[in-house]
Amino acid sequence: APIVELRGAGKSYGNVLALHGVDLAVRPGTVTCVLGDNGAGKSTLIKIISGLHQHTEGDYLIDGEPVRLANPREALARGIATVYQDLATVPLMPVWRNFFLGSELTRGVWPLRRLDIARMKATCEEELRRMGIALNDMERPIGSLSGGQRQSVAIARAVYFGARVLILDEPTAALGVKQSGVVLKYIAAARDRGLGVIFITHNPHHAFMVGDHFSVLRLGTLELSAARADITLDQ
Ligand code: ADP
Ligand code: ADP
Repeated sequence: APIVELRGAGKSYGNVLALHGVDLAVRPGTVTCVLGDNGAGKSTLIKIISGLHQHTEGDYLIDGEPVRLANPREALARGIATVYQDLATVPLMPVWRNFFLGSELTRGVWPLRRLDIARMKATCEEELRRMGIALNDMERPIGSLSGGQRQSVAIARAVYFGARVLILDEPTAALGVKQSGVVLKYIAAARDRGLGVIFITHNPHHAFMVGDHFSVLRLGTLELSAARADITLDQ
């Protein structure tokens, strides 16, 4: 069953109809790619799902139950986490501290005792390793990592703190070929750990490398919504 579902959902900003009649279902262990040009409605879609905006038409369901989220904190409480392009990381802070900053930002709790720094570093290293991120110095300032590695730490952090749905807003847009590959690998790792991933991208090649479902927005409506198996390359 889908974790997150939109049924005929849309949003107007005043008299601007930014999104209209959108159906979307995000199931565990799948990657849903949302594609579209500037102004197509991608930001509006993820703002609705992440609790930043409310839909003005149709329904938004979480675990089959219609919801109206008041803010992003409510989305996080339901396990819906967003990783934005401009990451919520503090560049001069060590990797491990940035990793645990997530617990304050998302749940308001520290899973480990605040002073147990050695354990926090070990947990961070282990979680990064589980996502396939090879980093051995947790004291490194996160700002010294590559863009791809920073995104990956943000993804691992969201997974560790209980995300069930991960919304990635253009995670490869600012990256070169090699770093994009790094991020695509972690998207696949999150999927393999059972998360539903919503991958917003301009790049059809990146989408096709990891996507199970493709939703293409144009002028606020779905131009295409297709499973990977339904897309043929021979025409
Ligand atoms: P809302 O109040 O619906 O949550 P925002 O806080 O994003 O929307 O924006 C407040 C107001 O700023 C909007 O109602 C709109 O008038 C204006 N605005 C913001 N972004 C845009 C945009 N991309 N295009 C046109 N108007 C915008
Ligand atoms: P995308 O992320 O695909 O570029 P958006 O969701 O930002 O698309 O925008 C969809 C449409 O809604 C655009 O026409 C945009 O100008 C309009 N829009 C977005 N935010 C606002 C706002 N706060 N107020 C008015 N219009 C907006």
